[in-house]
Amino acid sequence: MKLSDILSSADKPLISCEFFPPKTDKGEENLWNCLNELRSINPAYISVTYGAGGTTQDRTKGIVTRIKDETGLSPVAHLTCVGANKEELAALLADYQAAGIENILALRGDAPEGMDHFEAAAGGFSHATDLIAFLREQGDFSIACATYPEGHPESKGGMADDIRYLKIKQENGADAAVTQYFFDNDTFFRFRDDCRAAGITLPIIPGIMPVGNFDQIVRFSSMCGAKIPDWLHEQMVPIKDNLDAVKAMGIELAVKQCRELLQAGVPGLHFYTLNKSEATIAIRKKMTDLL
Ligand SMILES: Cc1cc2nc3c(=O)[nH]c(=O)nc-3n(C[C@H](O)[C@H](O)[C@H](O)COP(=O)(O)OP(=O)(O)OC[C@H]3O[C@@H](n4cnc5c(N)ncnc54)[C@H](O)[C@@H]3O)c2cc1C
Repeated sequence: MKLSDILSSADKPLISCEFFPPKTDKGEENLWNCLNELRSINPAYISVTYGAGGTTQDRTKGIVTRIKDETGLSPVAHLTCVGANKEELAALLADYQAAGIENILALRGDAPEGMDHFEAAAGGFSHATDLIAFLREQGDFSIACATYPEGHPESKGGMADDIRYLKIKQENGADAAVTQYFFDNDTFFRFRDDCRAAGITLPIIPGIMPVGNFDQIVRFSSMCGAKIPDWLHEQMVPIKDNLDAVKAMGIELAVKQCRELLQAGVPGLHFYTLNKSEATIAIRKKMTDLL
C-alpha cells in the first residue's frame, strides 16, 4: 500500500520500523524473525535503509521485495544519491516498479567509508530535493524524505536551512518526512511549529531511538548530529556497563517520550530498531491507550 494512502486513511497514529540490510546469513535470519515478531504490534510500514556500496544496495532491493511478497507488510525502500547517475537510478526505480514497490524514502546519503564529504556521482544528484523531483518523474511512487529537528550537521544556515530545504522537498513531491532521532521533545515541537509557519503541511513523523547501548548511541549521535541531553547522560552513565539496566531504562524513557509526542498529535512514530524487535514491541505495548 502507498505510504500516502496509509497516512491519509489512518484514524490513529501509526507505528513504523526501520531496518538495515544484514551482512550475514545469521543477520538475515534474525531480520525475518524480528519482522515476524513485529507483526504482533501491526506496523504500518517497514523501511529498509540503503548502504553506500553496491552489494549492500542490492540487499535493500532483495529485502523490500521479500517483505512485500512474503509478509503482507508494506515496505518502504530507502534510496540515496550516493554513487549512482540518473540512468542507474532510473534502472533501479524501474525494477522497483516491476516488483510492485510503491514507497521510497529519498535521501542524499552520507559519504562512503574512507571519504570525508559527500560528492555527487557524475551525472547524479547532489541533494535529496533533486532526487525527489526525479522520482516524481520516474513513476507513481509515494515519497518520504528525511528532516532534522536539531539541524543537519552540514547545514550552514542552521535550522532555517533545514526548514527551507524541507519545504522544497514538499514542493518537489514528498508525501511525508521522517525525522532524525532526538531525545528532547521540546526541540521537535519548536521545529514542527516553525515548519508549519513556513507552509510545510506534510506529515512530520518523529524518529525514535530507544537506547539499548549508551556508548553506541553516543557514537551514532556524534556522527549524525543528534544531541544527548544532560538528563539522559546523567541517567545512563552510572548504569552504562549493565546492558540489561540500560535497555530497561531506554524503554522507560522512550515510552515517556512517545507518550508525550502522541499527546501532542504526531501522525506516527518511526522506530530505529537496529534490527531488534524487543524494545519497539515493549514500548508499543505500554501505549495501548494512545494508539
Ligand atoms: C529517516 C532517515 C533515514 C535515513 N536513511 C539513510 C539510508 O538509508 N542510507 C544512508 O546512507 N543514509 C540515511 N540517512 C542519513 C542521511 O543520508 C544523511 O543524514 C545525509 O547526510 C543527508 O541526507 P538528506 O536526504 O537529509 O540530504 P539533503 O536533504 O540533501 O541535505 C544534506 C545537506 O544539504 C543541505 N541541502 C539540502 N537540500 C539542498 C539544496 N537543494 N541546495 C543546497 N543545500 C541543500 C541540507 O541543509 C543539509 O545540510 C537517513 C537519515 C534519516 C533522518
